[in-house]
Amino acid sequence: MAQSAVSATGTSGITPISAKALAPWAVFFGVLMLVLLYFVGAEQGATALISGEGVHEWVHDGRHLLGFPCH
Ligand SMILES: [Zn+2]
Repeated sequence: MAQSAVSATGTSGITPISAKALAPWAVFFGVLMLVLLYFVGAEQGATALISGEGVHEWVHDGRHLLGFPCH
């Protein structure tokens, strides 16, 4: 018989996290994902914040995989 994580009293010991406490982390990771999306989709393509071709070379396959215009 498989053992359950829930104890005999019915409490799991896991406290739920409120949406208010989670909101700053959701915003942080949302901004992080937008920055990543910018670097994969547009940096050294449509726009360039960093000179050279280094970023383009690193994200080139991802850019094609995600269907962003490249060359
Ligand atoms: Zn390409």
